[in-house]
Amino acid sequence: MALQFFNTYSRKLEQFSARKGGDQTIGIYTCGPTIYSRAHIGNFRAYIFEDLLQRHLEARGFNVHRVMNITDVDDKTIRGAREAGVSLSQFTKQFKRAFFEDTDALRIKRANEYPSATDQRYIDKMISMISALISKGLAYQADDKSVYFRIHNFPSYGKLAHIDLTQLQSTGRVKNDDYDKEHIGDFALWKAWDEEDGDVKWNSPWGAGRPGWHIECSAMATALLGDQIDIHCGGVDNIFPHHEAEIAQSEGVTGRKFVRMWLHCAHLLVDGQKMSKSLGNFYTVPDICAKGYTARELRYALIRVHYRTQLNFTWEVMNEARESLGRIDDWLARLHEIAQEENTGHRIERSDFENALDDDLNISAALGFLFETIRETNRAMDAGRLDRAGAASWLSWWNGVDSVLALTGQELQIPSEVLALAKAREQARLAKQWQKSDELRDKLFALGWEVRDTRDGQKIAKRAGA
Ligand SMILES: [Zn+2]
Repeated sequence: MALQFFNTYSRKLEQFSARKGGDQTIGIYTCGPTIYSRAHIGNFRAYIFEDLLQRHLEARGFNVHRVMNITDVDDKTIRGAREAGVSLSQFTKQFKRAFFEDTDALRIKRANEYPSATDQRYIDKMISMISALISKGLAYQADDKSVYFRIHNFPSYGKLAHIDLTQLQSTGRVKNDDYDKEHIGDFALWKAWDEEDGDVKWNSPWGAGRPGWHIECSAMATALLGDQIDIHCGGVDNIFPHHEAEIAQSEGVTGRKFVRMWLHCAHLLVDGQKMSKSLGNFYTVPDICAKGYTARELRYALIRVHYRTQLNFTWEVMNEARESLGRIDDWLARLHEIAQEENTGHRIERSDFENALDDDLNISAALGFLFETIRETNRAMDAGRLDRAGAASWLSWWNGVDSVLALTGQELQIPSEVLALAKAREQARLAKQWQKSDELRDKLFALGWEVRDTRDGQKIAKRAGA
């Protein structure tokens, strides 16, 4: 089957290929976090979907160049910094670090670039885009000194979200009173400075102020990926007004189609309800780990549901993830035992897994094939029908599958504490301090790691189920 995705813009499944005449590089833009607090698992569900998309495209031979923006200036970050009595950059720094910690823990591939909204390079680009929009009659400065996009002069506004302009209500992202604007749906491109902003301001032809949220993405996306982007992703809550506004701004300036394919990830619910701090069902990655689960189990729980389906997160779902990973780990351990480090260079030719993902990332079907394969090969091993070369070939097949799922394998990051213990154990063994070596082995086991002594020295692996 040809590669196809559901394009939010057309509301249809569309075939996807690289641009004609170009190389096989796919430019992907993904809306990143606003760093005023630690990102929650609903945010990470979308980031994991984007990771799956990138890894599958790479498995299919494309070269992906992915950009994810970091929003480090908006109403919430400014308020947070003011309340904490620190500078904006001091305030956002901690959440940026936390974001990367969680990204790595969840084995999400790092994007090629993480531009920040407050980078002067992009502020300059935003200002030049806003100037171009004003000169084309697509933007105006209102009495409150802020600059707004004039949606009535952009006839296709509302097309992505399939929204009727006459039905528009205030979006809540706009800071000033609505009477300053010509139309309730006009959105801020540049927000004039006011007292609450403190020292957060940049100079512009319209006076001191700061950019609106939407123009950040248009400026960074076109600056880093060109006027036209192959795939733009985000959560469904980004469709309107954020992505609609990105189209209006970008196409308003360039006159070219901004995005070839729009992909949006559905919501994550917790116990059937919208996640919120007041309901006590709001979770971050460390919250989940504090309940005794691993980030790897969380990755599995978040990746296993199709991205356009709502995901209902429960502890039962986490237990199922643990069980599924246990089945994969047990299977791999059996294969390794039979293969005995043999590498025949042969790989089982079976592409059901990849074919399923070609169909709009049909992960349920792909995982279905995986577990069917596990059952089949387990039966063969039970009956003693799988030899050393056969087991090695299945392990090579798994390496291909896992380059997309990222559940085991080389990317595994071993914490420094674990590495230090493993090193101490190796030294103890060399010094023939067997008791000490055993104690260190137990310590590693308690941390979820297993050591094996081979002819080439000590090997360390994640303990099954950990
Ligand atoms: Zn965005």
